[in-house]
Amino acid sequence: MTHRIAVVTGAAGGLGTAMCKALVNQGRKVVGTHLPGTEFTAEAEQWQTDLREQGIDVAIYPLDVTDFAGCQAFVNTVEQDLGPIDILVNNAGITNDAPLKKMQPEQWNQVINVNLNSMFNMCRQVFEGMCERGFGRIVNVSSLNGEKGQFGQSNYAATKAGIYGFTKSIALEGARKGVTANSVSPGYIDTPMVRKVPEKVLTSIVDGIPVGRLGQPEDIARAVAYLTADDAGFVTGTNMSVNGGQYMS
Ligand code: NAD
Repeated sequence: MTHRIAVVTGAAGGLGTAMCKALVNQGRKVVGTHLPGTEFTAEAEQWQTDLREQGIDVAIYPLDVTDFAGCQAFVNTVEQDLGPIDILVNNAGITNDAPLKKMQPEQWNQVINVNLNSMFNMCRQVFEGMCERGFGRIVNVSSLNGEKGQFGQSNYAATKAGIYGFTKSIALEGARKGVTANSVSPGYIDTPMVRKVPEKVLTSIVDGIPVGRLGQPEDIARAVAYLTADDAGFVTGTNMSVNGGQYMS
């Protein structure tokens, strides 16, 4: 297996951690990004130490995915330190929910910036190099709610649905160059965010999932590992829904 360099944004989160582990186990040199700032830096360092104790070595770099120039500087630094980036997993994402009649422009713009503008900010930096080298794997993390919509999440669902059009377009641009681009759309996954939901609500969510359980972060990581594999070159421009059958598109 080639020792390719893989970047996972928002790596220290519930799903990012599982993705990093899966990619390390796939023989990748993994770079995880964390939000800059003292408090986040301390958390990220602890996260890195915890992983090292499990035998998982992930390099960490600060990155705010909403900052185009910052993304450019990040990619330059990683490429100087480690080498060219062959695999990019755009995983960083946030929610900031409100029904439309209460949603503020700041809420709308913040979610668009983190979840959707980040796709451009990051892909723009690595895509050309991938095409020139004749190999690239891009996975953009969307959501079940981008496929079906969700009450109170018009901003979030708009970003996650926008990812599909963006991904298909760059898949076409990279198709003859060995660069694939796909999205993964997780359903409800057993992460700290989902565990915060009141028990009654969680029970009704699980009742609505045909396989009868929440997803595990590893379910999503497996999809990312598959789509980024060296021999997955014929899979491009598609979306992989990993949602226990909750929504079939
Ligand atoms: P999480 O909150 O645990 O992790 C998200 C990460 O993104 C965090 O590490 C955070 O620091 C980082 N981040 C936020 N803003 C950033 C910014 N401006 N720049 C850089 N990093 C930033 O969330 P998660 O549950 O692990 O979700 C990961 C992805 O999966 C997200 O895109 C989310 O929308 C998507 N998703 C999650 C679920 C789920 O059930 N957990 C379901 C569907 C989709």
